[in-house]
Amino acid sequence: MPYPEEFEGIAVTQDKPWHQPSHVSYPAKARHPRDIDIEIEACGVCGSDLHTVAGHWRELPPALVVGHEIVGRVVHVGSDADSGFKVGDRVGVSAQVLSCLECERCAEGNEPYCDGFVSAYNRAYPDGYVSQGGYASHVRVHEHFVVPIPESLPSELAAPLLCGGLTVYAPLIRNGCGPGVRVGVVGLGGLGHMAVLIAKALGAYVVAFSRGSSKRKDALELGADEYVATAEEPAWDDKYVSKLDIVLVCASSLQGVNLDQYVRTLRIGGKIISVCIPDKSEKLEMSAFALRGVTVGNSQLGSPQELRDLLELAAAKGFRPWVETLPVGVEGVSQALTRMDKGDVRYRFTLTEFDKEFGTGK
Ligand SMILES: [Zn+2]
Ligand SMILES: [Zn+2]
Repeated sequence: MPYPEEFEGIAVTQDKPWHQPSHVSYPAKARHPRDIDIEIEACGVCGSDLHTVAGHWRELPPALVVGHEIVGRVVHVGSDADSGFKVGDRVGVSAQVLSCLECERCAEGNEPYCDGFVSAYNRAYPDGYVSQGGYASHVRVHEHFVVPIPESLPSELAAPLLCGGLTVYAPLIRNGCGPGVRVGVVGLGGLGHMAVLIAKALGAYVVAFSRGSSKRKDALELGADEYVATAEEPAWDDKYVSKLDIVLVCASSLQGVNLDQYVRTLRIGGKIISVCIPDKSEKLEMSAFALRGVTVGNSQLGSPQELRDLLELAAAKGFRPWVETLPVGVEGVSQALTRMDKGDVRYRFTLTEFDKEFGTGK
């Protein structure tokens, strides 16, 4: 059965290793009157996709389509939807597709912290349907979690902002990033490179930290004011004592990251915020003695309103994530996940050519 009863996607299945995905079809989620149907035209490849298919976080269903940086066109608007979306609009979906929309957290724009959080894939909706992500022909999502994509943002460049960009934007905004604020970005991968772009767009002074020197040129080109190769200068922190207001930890793994050194770089009252979600066995380790007058925090994703604000900021200031595109399909998905596993990406993949793989776009 074709759309609207069934969607097609590139799934990781239990009978094959994660780097050998399959083209599958699966029943669509039952329509809620406020759901929007989207025909997908681009989807970013997020580190969470890899952690999920590799089983680092939780059990997998027999077949799972990942992907939660979804851009596409509206093809159906639910009868009770009142956000103003129309068929043909270009829209985006992030890593969250539902929350209760009634609790205090939802009411104050903290949807990602709602107990009713349903992620874009591998989570059960209240009716038991397990969500499927964006390496697919279509997605059906409650309108509250659909955002407009500004005209000037190409789909393949907008996609990485939808989860990765939002994940670093929300903690920057919530912790006072702006002109005159000095921000350290730890780790220059998919998240870190967007953190540099966004912190600069917000007017901050940015110091990028990475282990080696290989990313120095890129960091400066992204707009970082300074670059520190921490592995090449073991006592680097002596030069940065009390220099920063916010340190955003964007590393994909905390192994080998000495957080005590970063605490030294903070002014009194400064904040060290982790958005790192590594293998669940990893711990955030810091010396209690080293924590002198600073705050340690964490941030998860961001709200739909913050996502709208971020996309507007990107449109207004002109910054764009650095993206390599790959055609969606068994080959492209395998390549994206395998290369991401090796860290072989500058700095983000976006899957494209959905019309060719799924016969959509008509
Ligand atoms: Zn809620
Ligand atoms: Zn993500």
